[in-house]
Order: sequence, then C-alpha cells, then structure tokens
Amino acid sequence: MLQIERVETYPLLYQLREPYGDANGYKKYRTCFLLRIVTRSGLDGWGECIDWLPTLTVGFEQRIIPFLIGKEATKRLQLVKIISKWHQRAAAGVSMALTEIMAKKAGVSICELWGGRQHQTLPVYASFQSYSQGTEWPKQSVKRVEQAIADGFTQLKVKIGGRTIAEDQAHISALQHLIGEKVHLALDANQSYDAAAALKWEKLFRNWSNLMWLEEPLPMDRTADYKLLRSALSVPLAGGENLQHGRQYLPLLTQAALDLIQPDTMHHDGLDSYRDSLQLARQFGIRVSSHAFDGTLSRLYAVFAHACLPPWSKMEGNGMEPVEWDVMENPFTGLFSLRPVKGVVHVPEGVGLGVEMDAEILKRYRWDGRTYQ
Ligand code: MG
Repeated sequence: MLQIERVETYPLLYQLREPYGDANGYKKYRTCFLLRIVTRSGLDGWGECIDWLPTLTVGFEQRIIPFLIGKEATKRLQLVKIISKWHQRAAAGVSMALTEIMAKKAGVSICELWGGRQHQTLPVYASFQSYSQGTEWPKQSVKRVEQAIADGFTQLKVKIGGRTIAEDQAHISALQHLIGEKVHLALDANQSYDAAAALKWEKLFRNWSNLMWLEEPLPMDRTADYKLLRSALSVPLAGGENLQHGRQYLPLLTQAALDLIQPDTMHHDGLDSYRDSLQLARQFGIRVSSHAFDGTLSRLYAVFAHACLPPWSKMEGNGMEPVEWDVMENPFTGLFSLRPVKGVVHVPEGVGLGVEMDAEILKRYRWDGRTYQ
C-alpha cells in the first residue's frame, strides 16, 4: 500500500547580507520550500517548490495536503495534473516527492527508475548574479569570478542587461581579460533587450572564442527576433527557463530560433513534463542545459535527468551540456551532500536520491511565518 499518510512542509528563509541581482532587480533574501510526502508503509519522498513562501504555505495547508491524504502515491501523473491546475509550481514539487517514493519502493536510484544513467559525472557551471548596489559592483563581480576559478570551475555564467550596454561591455571585457580563453563563459540578459541592443554586442562577440551562449536577450515570445539574432550573432542563443511544458518550446524549435533550451525542474508542470522537454531537445538535435538557480533538490533532479540523456553530439565524444550551479551567498545550495569538484559532479547512485540531507539547515532557517518583501 502506497497510500499517502501525511505531508510535511519546510519553508526556509535566509536574509542576504548584501542584496545581489540581475536585470530584473535585486534579491534581498533566498528561500527554499521543501515538502516530504510519507506513505502508510513508511516510504517517503522529498520535493521542492519555488514561490513566495506565504502563497505556498497556505496553498499546501488548505488545499494540496487535504487533497493528497489518502491518495495512492503510484498515481503520480494523475495527481500532478490536478494540482498543476491549482498551483503549477507546487505540482512540480509533489512530482519530485512521488518519484522518489517509487524509486524507494523499487529499491533503485532515481536514474535507474528512469532507465539508467549514461554518465557517471556531469559538468556544472558556476552561476553568478553580477550586480550589487554601489559603484564597486564590477570589481565585486570580478572577485567572485576569480574565486570560482580558484575553486576549479571552468564554465561560468554572468549577467548583462541590468546596466547600460557600455557599462556591461566594460565589465564583461574586464572578466574576459581575467579568465582567458580556457574558461568558458555564458552571458544572461534576462529578457531585457530588444534585437537592436543585442546586436550591439556582436563587435565583441566575434573576437571571443570562449562564449558558450547568449541567454534570453529578448522576451521568449519574440520568435522572429530570436531567429534574426541567431543568424546575425556569432554566439549560440539559449533560453526558456520559465517555460512550463514542451509545447511552449515548439515555436522556437520548429523555427530554428534557438541553439539551446534551458528547462527548469521547478518551473515545469512536473518532473515528467520537464523530462519531456529534455527529450524534445534531443529529438530536434539541439542542446539542453537545465536552469537550476532557484533550488537545490530541484538541481539534483536536473543532474539525474541529464545523466540519463545520451550525449548531445558526436562532435565532442561523450560531451554533455552543463547544469547550472548557484555559487552566490545561499545556505540552501549546501542542503544536499553533492558538491562539484573542478566543475564536475559525481551522479549519486544510491537508492532514491542517494545523498544525505543536512537536517540542521532545515531547523536553522525555518521561516517564522512573518510576511516579508
Ligand atoms: Mg537566465
């Protein structure tokens, strides 16, 4: 019997010492919302969602938990479909917990449940929020990047689009001077440009051979402009972190407007739908590098899903696209015992998640229920 007996929730909040941000503004805090579904037989599974904590807490308490109690954990697709109509991001978390329960029931790892890992290790890239308050932000950004390189990362992503193009270009030029051609770099504009603004970067792009991609220069519904930029710029174009299911990628894929898609396990309406988008990329022969800045269990699931994919191309042997790794101040990034070494993580192979959770973090950062901005 895999009847759901109870659901526990763990809303966590951490106030940042200094705000940091991207083209959308500054973050003053980081949050994490975990849930644990326990069956009558004692098997349990963890999930993670992202949204404002009061919204998630009330949604789970008043509607999602009462709905789940007594349901069969084996009916994941049916349950997730219903919850996604109420709160799509809550459904993503529930799908993780129910997936882990099935892996434990079978006595296998998540990768084995999904057909087996094809990679024992995966590359990850260090992901930065480049802006901070005050005029010293470029110096602070360069210092953070220096630290990540000292920690062994060889792939990085930094932000553009939150300052004037001249300021951003000075910042990226300084970074390029520091990191050299051996470190690979992605630039993320968080949908802040129009096509004309993006084209102003081409004079720099054509001199740089280490660029992995330009991410979301424009709003993602501007397919025609993406197509135009893809033919005019000398760097690959990436995007789609906020899309919720495969069909939203179809206009971009069928019109060959992107080189690389970036689905997020928490932004899709369930892990199964997220994995469909990974497969979509493989079917269209384009790359996929999962977005995973907002969470830690969710990032672990991105690692599992990437590990189950075949290599993206014969061009680079067993080469795989990297998964995003948050290197900013964020205690929740250390919640699980998975750590990159020289920019690579070992894919866990134990039963279920196969990694330990730091229960101390759950206690220390428990949100006190007060409203925050
Ligand atoms: Mg992005």
